[in-house]
Amino acid sequence: MTQRKLTPGRLIIATHNKGKLAEIDALLAPYGMTTEAAGDLGLDEPDETGTAFAENALIKAQSACDATGCVALADDSGLCVAALGGAPGVYTADWAERQPFEAGALGGPGRDWYLAMGKVEGKLAELGPDADRSAYFVSTLALVWPDGEQLVVEGRAQGHLTWPPRGTLGFGYDPVFVPQGFKQSYAELGPEHKLEYDHRAAAFAKLVAMVF
Ligand code: IMP
Repeated sequence: MTQRKLTPGRLIIATHNKGKLAEIDALLAPYGMTTEAAGDLGLDEPDETGTAFAENALIKAQSACDATGCVALADDSGLCVAALGGAPGVYTADWAERQPFEAGALGGPGRDWYLAMGKVEGKLAELGPDADRSAYFVSTLALVWPDGEQLVVEGRAQGHLTWPPRGTLGFGYDPVFVPQGFKQSYAELGPEHKLEYDHRAAAFAKLVAMVF
């Protein structure tokens, strides 16, 4: 079966995450798509009830496609830490949810990435100073067409965790992730590195080869 192509036109990016959106827009820039973000369109964020990245990526893309009648692209991504059995994995964003009793939660609900990075570090610290700090990021992209056709691809980036967090560029867990072959964190290396080498770039390389 020949792979269906994406023709220039409207493409909904099924995310409310500004950091992801910036990376996805930059990765798609050469391909002539008119991107619109679910967050900017005021679409609801569906519950991510899946237990695998691909399931959640499809839930998000399908929801945005259903709401707009347009082709939709979603990224479900996360950090997998070897010594923590792959956690936080699909729950990477959830580890940043503030609980009402947690310090800093007085401003209300929301995500706190420093809280999340601290939780990962706390669990590694429980394993002792010799804990294996290797980790990888996963990005799973799902593309859903209005007639129900779907495509899913995955990219990974290997590396290790550093502490304390370093750098101010990027988003999410970027300040604690040092990609393989580098000394700087993603938040120090910045978008030039990430757009060429990170897990999302790896997934996009596969997607682009198939649909353009
Ligand atoms: P979700 O895909 O919406 O479930 O969220 C995944 C979470 O993983 C994001 O909110 C980020 O915190 C984290 N994450 C995914 N990709 C990256 C990245 O490139 N850098 C830093 N954190 C990331």
